[in-house]
Amino acid sequence: MQTYGRLPVRFVRGEGAWVEDDSGTRYLDGLSGIAVCGLGHAHPAVAAAVAEQARTLVHTSNLYHLPLQEKLAARLCEVSGMDRVFFCNSGAEANEAAIKLARLYGHNRGIDEPRILVLDNAFHGRTMATLTATGNRKAQQGFEPLLPGFTRVPFNDLPAIAAALAEDPSIVAVLLEPVQGEGGVRVPGKGYLDGVRLLCDQHACLMMCDEVQTGIGRTGRWFAFQHNSARPDVLTSAKGLGNGVPIGACLARGAAADTLQPGSHGSTFGGNPLASAAALAVLETLQRERLTERAEQLGRHLLDAFRQELADLPGVRDIRGRGLMLGIELDRPCGELVAEALADQLLINVTAGQTIRLLPPLILSDAEAEQLIRQMVRLVRRFLA
Ligand SMILES: *Cc1c(COP(=O)(O)O)cnc(C)c1O
Repeated sequence: MQTYGRLPVRFVRGEGAWVEDDSGTRYLDGLSGIAVCGLGHAHPAVAAAVAEQARTLVHTSNLYHLPLQEKLAARLCEVSGMDRVFFCNSGAEANEAAIKLARLYGHNRGIDEPRILVLDNAFHGRTMATLTATGNRKAQQGFEPLLPGFTRVPFNDLPAIAAALAEDPSIVAVLLEPVQGEGGVRVPGKGYLDGVRLLCDQHACLMMCDEVQTGIGRTGRWFAFQHNSARPDVLTSAKGLGNGVPIGACLARGAAADTLQPGSHGSTFGGNPLASAAALAVLETLQRERLTERAEQLGRHLLDAFRQELADLPGVRDIRGRGLMLGIELDRPCGELVAEALADQLLINVTAGQTIRLLPPLILSDAEAEQLIRQMVRLVRRFLA
């Protein structure tokens, strides 16, 4: 169906930070399939794991124990500090699991109509519950009735969260992205996540971090919450987890981890041997090649370079980001930059109308990073001239 306005290009193969179209033209990938291919394209470790698993066992359902899923769950818990994992196939599904978990958690505490606090400009997915949680009226338009049970407050506003929680004892959870992605690469102020944690503790609320975009090394930590001392009760992951093989995960710790019980949630495909093998290869490779550290160091370099080369332009409003999640906000809508970059053999994205979003692969080399800087600076300068 016509759910996407597609760019006029057909990619047929990729390698590392490059993709190639059907005429043999190569493009530098500054987007990684929207924060998915963190290890770049056709990574040998992921390719080998998928091929080997396809020859061994692809799927059995979740009616049986799955050793690879258990191994992946243990590894994810190790790097995140969580206790249990529910596996599914996408970011939206991971957030659906978190929303259902929060509601059940509320009901178990005698709250008949539990509510979840969400933020302006949030993005949590396109299913009915995650679309309701998403703070974008345009995405919701035409899909009413939305779900009940959500309260919305402004982003990066601790007093607003404090007031909402004080006023409404039926709020059982706060769902937020540590860095808003689709909402415009918005980084909250220092102390924000720790403040949310404190408020959640005071009001017996679950703190739920949507790390579908920010997780798996992207911001320079395994998960972006790890830049702070606060740890969420529930954590969702997807995008980068399988490097392009569909997989999602909802992680939880403490009482939250024991909320869902047999029969209360499920997924046919979730965490099957093929997807688990891919994700295990991703986590192993990230660790072995120290790509999380690389994302932090490279991200700082890109941020510095863009600030140095672009901050003097009056049309550049802000340059921000964390690790390899970067935003260049202009003072005007700049959607056409995506096509201009494509014509220049560079893949980028514009989100929230006027913010250029870069999500390059974590394996980007120094030379590729310099090329990305050069091309972006030229594009932005030309666009604003
Ligand atoms: C992409 C994204 C989602 C949705 O993931 P899908 O796999 O497209 O369902 C949810 N939350 C955040 C923060 C995202 O960036």
